[in-house]
Amino acid sequence: MKLRDCPFEKIYPSELQRDAEYYMALAYNQAIEAWQQDEVPIGAVIEHQGRVIASAHNQSRATNDPTAHAEVLAISQAANTLGDWRLNACTLYVTKEPCPMCSGAVIMSRVGQVIYGVPDTKMGCLGGAYSVHLLEGVNHRVDVKSGVLANECYALLQSFFKLKRVRE
Ligand code: ZN
Repeated sequence: MKLRDCPFEKIYPSELQRDAEYYMALAYNQAIEAWQQDEVPIGAVIEHQGRVIASAHNQSRATNDPTAHAEVLAISQAANTLGDWRLNACTLYVTKEPCPMCSGAVIMSRVGQVIYGVPDTKMGCLGGAYSVHLLEGVNHRVDVKSGVLANECYALLQSFFKLKRVRE
């Protein structure tokens, strides 16, 4: 099996119930696309008033850009779509807890809510390893939730790295 042959399948959620699982499924599907491009399988979507205004996955390898994480790309897309850098009315769904850089981007763009799948106790900065959003000097308050489709998001990441280790 080639690394690009992702053994996981996309989730096709019902359009009728647009809840957190619905949007996380779309982020998960982005993560699968990342895998198929040999990128770390992390995906993100941004919802605004019931509409998906951004979706992205990691692209650091293809672009040789260490800042090309799913969250950063999605935040840029969303700000462009809205014509406003303030994303207070938006919810960011991401399959893994944001790293220090992406947590910083969440604060700087004033994303109203972040919902992530898997917590990251090593690098996660929205509660997992550290809570950058709770720094005293940060006056933007972001609502953070986790655990949506956590098992699915975790299995994807774990399998990807296991396969990579076998190959390297
Ligand atoms: Zn990141």
